[in-house]
Amino acid sequence: MNLHEYQGKEILASFGVRVQRGKVASTPAEAVEVAKQLTEETGTGWHVIKAQVHAGGRGKGGGVKLAKNLQEVEDIAGQIIGMDLVTPQTSAEGKRVHQVLIAEDVYYPGDSEPNEFYMSVLLNRATGRNMIMYSTEGGMDIETVAEETPHLIFTEEVDPAQGLLPFQARKVAFNLGLSGTAFKEMTRFVSSLYKAYVASDSSLFEINPVLKTSDDKIMAVDAKVTLDENALFRHKDYAAMRDLREENPIEVEAKEVGLNYVDLDGNVGCMVNGAGLAMATMDLIKMAGGEPANFLDVGGTADAKRVEEAFRIILKDENVKAILINIFGGIVRCDRVAQGVVDAYKNMGDAIKVPIIVRLQGTNADIAKELIDNSGLAVESAVEFQEAADKVQAVLA
Ligand code: GDP
Ligand code: MN
Repeated sequence: MNLHEYQGKEILASFGVRVQRGKVASTPAEAVEVAKQLTEETGTGWHVIKAQVHAGGRGKGGGVKLAKNLQEVEDIAGQIIGMDLVTPQTSAEGKRVHQVLIAEDVYYPGDSEPNEFYMSVLLNRATGRNMIMYSTEGGMDIETVAEETPHLIFTEEVDPAQGLLPFQARKVAFNLGLSGTAFKEMTRFVSSLYKAYVASDSSLFEINPVLKTSDDKIMAVDAKVTLDENALFRHKDYAAMRDLREENPIEVEAKEVGLNYVDLDGNVGCMVNGAGLAMATMDLIKMAGGEPANFLDVGGTADAKRVEEAFRIILKDENVKAILINIFGGIVRCDRVAQGVVDAYKNMGDAIKVPIIVRLQGTNADIAKELIDNSGLAVESAVEFQEAADKVQAVLA
């Protein structure tokens, strides 16, 4: 589950990681109030106004702006709230901004060359260990750094039994070219960042930039935090941070009815039981010249109600030109699934306007095929994988 920058920073701060101070606002008037408060707390009259959307590269898209007085806070917040922010990480339509973060300006004037670093904590799947990835080249696209100057990206792997050791934190600070107070601050920053990562059950922290201020403080200016959804049950307070407005509406609905659905860009909807078969089916669709419109695992109980729910979800995607149902009937018998498909189809009346190909294999597959073939509905049955692929190809042609 992805979080907004302000939420990520809240979590970091709760573990003692120094972050740029700020507060979220939903209206220009609220933004002004927040800015006034921040000025009282920090003494700075300059603020950055930052669009809160689940996408990076906001700076490039005009979603991060400096305000030098309260009038500018109000004006800029007014411009950013409600805009459709387009960044290199969004679609061409952009993402609607509902909230802005008002943060203290930490790039002090006269700071000729602010020191921006890159730092992330994530799992290295090849070694099965968490690692800290960091670079002197912060503030820009890490992908560009990786391409052009890969030697400027360092990694530090952590032994899960020992956790991050003090010498490792010092190594990070050293490789970032720091000394004196900044060096000490960085070792503290890295240690508490790693602690926060583990304790919050996150799967990604990406802090870009980490800033060294002119008075040698080290702080997180940005925060991308991804939480491991499988561990959310033990973090009720984090679970409440979910912002459904940022998520794909069809996926949100699928989750509500307990379907394992991922929206994709293709034209063939698929309904499958089991994640492995679902992936094989997506390959099948590709080999037939189509593109899967979704990944959908209906799970173990493919009865009429579930099949109908799955149909409804798949049909919300306007790009769907055909639906391929590929179900292996083991515990759930094929004839019951077939009956479910027929009942769901009848229930939905005119809602289904695209051809449907059903492949049912396993217990009572022959009865199931008969049921489908005799239903009088625009549903085609297939027995073999290749046959299903050919039928998909035929309906797409
Ligand atoms: P992103 O573009 O979505 O990654 O958003 P960031 O939070 O990283 O902000 C983009 C850029 O805005 C940063 O790289 C900084 O250069 C700049 N920025 C962020 N905070 C401040 C600030 O307090 N003062 C100034 N002057 N610039 C800032
Ligand atoms: Mn950033």
